[in-house]
Amino acid sequence: MPQKEDHVVSEAEWQVMRVIWNKQHTTAKEIYELLHESLDWKLTTVKTLLGRLVTKEWVQTTKEGKRFIYSPLLSQTDAMKLATDDFLARFCATTVGETIAEMIRTTPLRQEDLQLLRETIDQIHPMSITCTCLPGQCNCHHEKG
Ligand SMILES: [Zn+2]
Repeated sequence: MPQKEDHVVSEAEWQVMRVIWNKQHTTAKEIYELLHESLDWKLTTVKTLLGRLVTKEWVQTTKEGKRFIYSPLLSQTDAMKLATDDFLARFCATTVGETIAEMIRTTPLRQEDLQLLRETIDQIHPMSITCTCLPGQCNCHHEKG
């Protein structure tokens, strides 16, 4: 798994990752051909973004003949977990249930999504929560007396 500071990828890097996850093995040229019209990118833009993703260890590159092949080091599922953890860490742990409920309320969901959510909730056991907020960020445990 990447280091903490490598969690954060830009919107542009995410667009590239989406193609790499989908293709599994791809080249800068293929990504360029797929995305450049929608995103108004040059081939050099794609190569720069790929370089950053390799540095962040989200992507690996191997040489096949004269071509560089890019493939994911971080799975889409692991990236989803990192993104969700980062997002939920922005709120007091005691309000995470409320935050998730709001996401469910405001997100269009199919019948099978609702079924998955019901099954998931039924399998979860309640846990006690201690938040890690800094003083002044919430009122749930820093108040004295
Ligand atoms: Zn808190």
